[in-house]
Amino acid sequence: MLIAGIYLPGVIRYRHMIGILGGTFDPIHYGHLRTALDVQEALELKHIHFVPLKHAVHKKQPGTEAELRASMVQAAIAQHPGFVMDDCELHNDRPSYSLYTLQSFRRQMPHTPLCFLLGMDAFRDFLSWHEPMEILKLAHLVVMQRPGEEMPDAQLQQLVAERSVENAAALRQQPGGSILFQPVTQLAISATDIRLRAQQGRSLRYLLPDAVITIIEKLKLYRPS
Ligand code: ATP
Repeated sequence: MLIAGIYLPGVIRYRHMIGILGGTFDPIHYGHLRTALDVQEALELKHIHFVPLKHAVHKKQPGTEAELRASMVQAAIAQHPGFVMDDCELHNDRPSYSLYTLQSFRRQMPHTPLCFLLGMDAFRDFLSWHEPMEILKLAHLVVMQRPGEEMPDAQLQQLVAERSVENAAALRQQPGGSILFQPVTQLAISATDIRLRAQQGRSLRYLLPDAVITIIEKLKLYRPS
């Protein structure tokens, strides 16, 4: 008997898929939100979990406390059904490896297809991550094109050739293991640019939700000390 999905002759199709978007979110912006919504719609994801990392491993440690970055995520997604602020990395003092996060999701959802969302910039470094092939066993990778980002190098292209699928239906057949390139709205917005604008006292309007701008202004985040 198959509990998590429905059985069609020769094919398993799981009912629900979950999206996971990890990031520093320092701060969260429309480049994260609009692209996550595009993926949620295209793949019919029940939920997308936004997972702010605590201890950065692939980039410089963010200057803003993890709890504060999480509050900005919470403020940004509060009105959107299906977007979930997930604090699973916040209570851990170990490095925030995606492997550990996905292992914890897998323990809670043994059969559900997990879609790990990442921008092309992050995907290009995928093979240098901690245990990349274990990550790919636990989840599918859904790669969102990002303005200015080229396709990956030859070694990663090899993995893409072996694992890429064309559509969401293919992802529904396995809990993990495939790579999907998902077209998304192209927004050349980055948290680095937002922090720089805030530092220079320039407007942040229309780059990120007003609720997040209010937090940044109230707490004078990213201002020169
Ligand atoms: P920073 O500028 O501080 O490096 P960032 O804007 O890239 O930050 P992160 O929190 O590091 O934001 O990103 C989390 C994830 O979201 C990564 O996989 C990243 O590739 C993706 N992402 C961020 N901005 C965009 C965007 N504008 N379009 C598509 N994907 C994005």
